[in-house]
Parts: sequence; C-alpha cells; structure tokens
Amino acid sequence: MTNGQQLRLYNSLGRRLEDFTPSASTVGLYSCGPTVYSFPHLGNMRPYVFADTLRRALTWKGIPSRQVLNITDVGHAVADSDTGEDKLEVAAARELRSVEEIAARYTEAFFEDMAALNVQPADEYPRASAYVPQMIDFAVQLESLGYTYLLPSGLYFDTSKSPGYGTLALMDIAGQREGIRVEHVEGRRHKSDFALWRSEEPGKRRVMRWDSPWGWGAPGWHLECSVMSMGLLGAHFDIHTGGVDHRQLHHVNEIAQSEAYLGDGQPWVRYWLHNEWLLIDSAKIAKSAGPVPRLADLVAAGQHPMAFRLFLLGGHYRSQLDFTPAAVGAAQATLRRLIARVEALRPLPVVETLADAEALAGDNPAVKAYLDPIDAAISADLATPKILASLQESLRDPALTDSGQRLVAAVADALLGLRLGSLELREVEHRASVASLSADRVAQIEQLIAERTQARGEKNWARADEIRAALDALNVQVTDTPNGPVWELR
Ligand SMILES: [Zn+2]
Repeated sequence: MTNGQQLRLYNSLGRRLEDFTPSASTVGLYSCGPTVYSFPHLGNMRPYVFADTLRRALTWKGIPSRQVLNITDVGHAVADSDTGEDKLEVAAARELRSVEEIAARYTEAFFEDMAALNVQPADEYPRASAYVPQMIDFAVQLESLGYTYLLPSGLYFDTSKSPGYGTLALMDIAGQREGIRVEHVEGRRHKSDFALWRSEEPGKRRVMRWDSPWGWGAPGWHLECSVMSMGLLGAHFDIHTGGVDHRQLHHVNEIAQSEAYLGDGQPWVRYWLHNEWLLIDSAKIAKSAGPVPRLADLVAAGQHPMAFRLFLLGGHYRSQLDFTPAAVGAAQATLRRLIARVEALRPLPVVETLADAEALAGDNPAVKAYLDPIDAAISADLATPKILASLQESLRDPALTDSGQRLVAAVADALLGLRLGSLELREVEHRASVASLSADRVAQIEQLIAERTQARGEKNWARADEIRAALDALNVQVTDTPNGPVWELR
C-alpha cells in the first residue's frame, strides 16, 4: 500500500509547482472566507469548491487536515480601503437592519450555498467580531516592535520595515508604493502601508466600535486572518488558500504583519494556493452590468447546484473560467448522463482514500488502469478535468465489470464530490420556476427590462446589449411582443 504519486501543488510563493510535504501530522489549512454583507454570488463560490477539492485530495493521500474558514463580520471597508465605511454598516443602513441581523442573514445564506454545493464543512468558522481583543493585542505587539506609526485616521503598518514585503505578489516594491488601487491617506508614509486599526473620525460614531490604546475604532481588514489563523492553527501552518484577487494585497499584508509579529525569520505559511476568477461575459464577475447571478438563480432556472459544481470542476482551478448559463446547462446534461449510468450501479462502496480504493481493487488490472491515472491527476495540482474524463471513459469501458465501474465511480466521487452515490435523476431534470425566485430578484429583473426598453427607445444599443447580457446571465429570456416585452426563465 502506498500513497501513490507525490502530491504536487502550485505555490503562489515562488510561482511554481512543488512537492507537498506536510510539516505536522495534521495539516493546518486556512481559507479566507466571505464578508457577510450581501448574498454570495456564483463567483464567490469558486474559492470554496477549490479548497474543498484540496481537502479531498489531502484525505485521498491519507493526510489529515484541519480547515479554518473565517467569517468577516467587521473590518472590511468598502472598496477594500483603509478609511471607508464598513461593508456591513453600509448594508445595515441599506436594509434597515442591525449589523448583527445583516451578519446572521448572509452567514446563513453562505452556509446554505456551501451545503447545496456539497462543500464539506470546515472545522472552525471564527467570526472576526469575536476576535477584536486578540487583534488589538496583536497590533500592540507590532507597535512595541516598532513596525507601526499612528495617524489621526488610525494605526498603520510601515511596510518599508518588512524586508520581504510583496514577495507573494512578485511585487516591484517601488511600483506598489505608488500603487494604483490604494486611496490617499493623509500622512501615510508609503502607499503600501495599511491600517491595523481604523480610528473613528471625530463626530462620526461607528456602529461597530471598540476601545483600544489608539482610541475608539475598528480593526483593519487584514488583521483578522493573521490573528484567527494563528489562534486556531498555531503560529505556523502549512496551507493558506483564497481567490487570486487576494494575492496582490490582502495576503501580502497578512504575510507582512504575521512575519513581523513572529519575528523568527521563518516563512509564516509554507504554501499559498489561489484559484483564478470566474468570469461572466469575460469580465470580472464583480464588474458585471446587472445583478450577479447567485446559486438560487440557477436553481430557479432549473439548474442543479451539482451541475454548477461539475461546471467548476470541468476547469482547472488555476484557469479563468467563463460562466454562461449554457455552459452550466451542458454540465447538467453531463451530470444527467453520469447519474443515469451510475444509478444502476448503486450502492457505491465507501471510498475516501487511495488506500481504501486499492484495498477494494485488489489486483484487478482493469480497475488499476483507472485508479493510477486518477491518482496521477489529483496529484498533479488537482487536475479535476482529467478525473472527470477518466470517470466518463470508465463508464463506457467494456473491459470493466460493473463492480469495477462501481469502484471507479466511488473513487471519482470521493475527489469530485458530485453526490454520484445518492443524487436522483429526477433531481437533475431541467425545470425552471419563476415562482422560486425571490421577490427582490423579480423586481430587479423587471427593472432591468424597463431599462432595456428605455435604452432601446433612446437607440442606446450599447446599454441595451449590456442589459441583455446581464439578463442572459440570470437565464432570463425576453420576448418583445406588441404589448411590450415578456420574460420567462430559460
Ligand atoms: Zn483573509
């Protein structure tokens, strides 16, 4: 019995494929989680399906892991800036709810989507708001080590004192200090310096506020991940994951403050893994013209969450992926074919690890002919498209007996998590239902259609096309009739 091929992962730190060697008997894994101020959209799902695949790969290799995934319910300012309003406070004002209600509502929505996508629960979901005293202690320590300076707007980390600053981002330090996305802050020494503590502006009382050695205020956004990961996984741990958008700023700052805090000359975290963007109409999903589709929109349009998961896994996590309803529809057709075949093979055996699979395969060469490439694929930086291809091939292969196909299906599902062992064919039938859309969403769709009618009346074709694309992404089909436009879900 072996652990098969060496697991190799692409480390953003150094931008290369590396052998993964755990430093402890249980691998510590920290995944940057959601800021719970609105419904998560489809692009927000990709980092968690990716981290789930990574966990399944570790389990497959017999490597226990412990995952911490944070819930950001304070500290994340609009536009990721240091001085803006807190995203949760803005949402609370918009929805006439308390910040606690906002956090509870959208945390719940996040967990619902995770469950629908068959993402295995993390071991811990720390809330930033519960760690503010520890964040203050952390910043006090940085201050006593001479890494900070105080301005009226808050306590800042001086990035010029961090020798390796920006290594993760392959950053030209001078370039970053002149960085473009960072707002002007009066008195800040370098543009890359960031707030550890955001002081309350005189006369502007924050809703979420804590007292600190620097007065009343709230923590900076980057602080929570350093504090909660070290608090729950220990000073150093093996893997940190997140979307590629975090590679340039958030993770760079996490590393700088953590290594300054620890001061032991060791890299804080050994492997940094980032998933690429999910694009809508080849634009960053967050910049789309209309409301960005959510999982609930796909479900209302008759697309199963597992079809979306299959669509995601049909691309490699480090490749940009173009979301279209048609692509998810195609994934659903693939899923239906898989279920139709696998249903007849059930029940599938319980397989979690390569060792489980090898024990069940015995010395059957026809099965080994699939086990080996599947192991090679997951070992090669989580090549899920290849696993999917092997699964499909195995189900057509006359050289495999039913029991062989049953085992390959169980193996593929241990890694892909598509619920092949339990999903019913009728669950993945295409059945759109406008009635299951939320009232908010129906109102937004009708608003977009009205804007489209107006844009067309003004011969503003560019705007009309933009709106059409946004409606397409929501699976909305508009038909123009003599009585005006009517719509349905495709
Ligand atoms: Zn983070």
